[in-house]
Amino acid sequence: MKVAFIGTGRMGRPMAERVLAGGHELTVYNRNREKAEPLSSLGAEIASSAADAIGAAECVILMLADGAAIKEVLFRGSPKVDLTGRTVIQMGTISPSESMDFQREVGKRGGDYLEAPVLGSTPEASAGKLLVMVGASKPQFDKWSNLLECFGSEPLLIGEVGKAAAVKLALNQLIASLTVGFASSVGLVQNLGIEPGLFMKILRRSALYAPIFDKKLEHMLDRDYGIGNFPTKHLFKDVALFHTAAQRVNLESVAVEAIQRLLEITLEQGYAEADYSALFEAVCPLGQQTGGS
Ligand code: NAP
Repeated sequence: MKVAFIGTGRMGRPMAERVLAGGHELTVYNRNREKAEPLSSLGAEIASSAADAIGAAECVILMLADGAAIKEVLFRGSPKVDLTGRTVIQMGTISPSESMDFQREVGKRGGDYLEAPVLGSTPEASAGKLLVMVGASKPQFDKWSNLLECFGSEPLLIGEVGKAAAVKLALNQLIASLTVGFASSVGLVQNLGIEPGLFMKILRRSALYAPIFDKKLEHMLDRDYGIGNFPTKHLFKDVALFHTAAQRVNLESVAVEAIQRLLEITLEQGYAEADYSALFEAVCPLGQQTGGS
């Protein structure tokens, strides 16, 4: 199959490698060309515009930062993208309403559109072990699931366009709330001078435990968050999208607003590109320890 892949950032590059490994003909485009170049030695054509990449393909996979980036690439770029007779598969994290808007816009231009957001980060992207959620019609799903299996062995049809985007936001809200909850508990224990290892020993044996806790513990204890596979800035975007989607269905948003504010503080502290466990800095700022009592 002739595939165009647009957006070779943290996730896009290993995902594009999986398309090549699946034996497909691949043309890639990235705004910053340097990030696409390494794919050329693996057999990809590097296009100098999105229009060129898409012009060479029957299907276009988008792994872009957000809805604004998708608009820029599909509808505002020069030269103009020709979507006639082509299928757009949107795989980034955007809101259900943005995704439905893109479905309409792509349809107006003679193309077909489905969404396939993913859960998992760069290691899972490299290994082809992402959880792929598909928002599409059944015929679209049947047509494209082979290609989507490059990214994860069992793409799951959630419902029409917008539904998979919603499930993805529901999952990412959990990433944020679990992290804030864990950071708060670790912060309390630490600031009271209790050994975090003891706290973890109990937590690991309990029904409260989630694997994400051990993945993030060391970052928090060391206050070292590195360059994130999944950076704080993207989690901030996703929680804001969740907030809007939740308000539309009348959910109480006090909790999510508090998490949004904590993420905002984390960004203000300079952790936009760091792993999102940097939320610990907002929840438990340095210099606040009492050491006991
Ligand atoms: P990333 O590393 O920040 O890459 C973002 C991509 O979007 C880059 O290719 C970037 O191009 C492009 N882009 C941004 N603004 C643009 C614009 N205005 N015009 C054209 N291109 C633009 O992001 P990522 O981590 O790969 O994530 C991509 C999407 O997947 C996001 O929606 C994210 O929330 C979601 N996601 C991420 C993870 C993860 O663990 N990282 C996991 C699941 C889902 P340049 O290189 O030129 O800046």
